Amino acid sequence: MAVSKPLIKRKEYLITEIIHETPDVDIFSITPPDNEIMEFDPGMFVMLTHVSADSKEVTRAFSIASSPTTCVLDFYIHMIHGQLTSKLENSKLGDKLLVTGPYGQFRFVPSEEKKVLFIAGGTGLAPMMSMLKQIKDQSTGTDVALLYSVRYPNEIIRKEELKSLESEIGLNTTITVTRESEQHWDGERGHINSQMISRHVPDYAERTVFVCGPLEFVKAMRTATSELNINSIKVKADVWG
Ligand SMILES: Cc1cc2nc3c(=O)[nH]c(=O)nc-3n(C[C@H](O)[C@H](O)[C@H](O)COP(=O)(O)OP(=O)(O)OC[C@H]3O[C@@H](n4cnc5c(N)ncnc54)[C@H](O)[C@@H]3O)c2cc1C
Repeated sequence: MAVSKPLIKRKEYLITEIIHETPDVDIFSITPPDNEIMEFDPGMFVMLTHVSADSKEVTRAFSIASSPTTCVLDFYIHMIHGQLTSKLENSKLGDKLLVTGPYGQFRFVPSEEKKVLFIAGGTGLAPMMSMLKQIKDQSTGTDVALLYSVRYPNEIIRKEELKSLESEIGLNTTITVTRESEQHWDGERGHINSQMISRHVPDYAERTVFVCGPLEFVKAMRTATSELNINSIKVKADVWG
């Protein structure tokens, strides 16, 4: 794999795969024509720009979900029919996107974090998945507990991959479903709170906590970790709102 220094200027990437992962989330994979992918740490994000035929640009931030050890960048994109996501709805394989980055301080450094707790809401799983792939690809031996919240069972992103990670890296996963529906679900239910954290991850005090999701979700997790007397220095958050 060819690796270049972090990019400041924009670079053209091509869409190589689009997976309709859940009713609302598509996974987009992009790769640069020269295969020279940027260097990044899991947890970081890029700015993606769509350029229309009339040269009008729309730019939004997206967390990288793929491992830094591959030649593609994956994104878990909640298709909310907004300005950029409606452009992406109509995009096809081979279409161009401009990429700037990487950016962000929400970074995972395996040599510094031996025991971690990942708390993700919805597409907030993206940066965690990048971290999990690095942990697996580089056999870092990191001890990871994951609390992942979705509204409905059919909104779980990469369900099979998460399952495989349980045996591959010893991932301790708890998925919680927050809304009632007729879909079958015999796992955890309700919003993540301090009781749920201590029930599923009793050694939370020994872990660095990474939280990612919408603003209200991150606020609730700050309250939950504070109730557990987890030092805020040990809580790293990436807010999308
Ligand atoms: C650092 C960072 C990383 C991000 N990573 C991701 C990611 O990995 N995946 C991802 O899907 N998004 C991510 N986002 C959000 C993303 O940048 C866009 O805001 C989102 O895709 C909507 O853009 P849009 O142009 O389609 O909608 P806009 O036209 O900007 O917004 C349309 C309307 O929808 C509302 N809205 C915006 N976002 C959401 C949402 N998520 N759910 C419901 N309503 C919303 C807005 O308030 C607005 O009213 C990230 C944001 C940041 C700051």
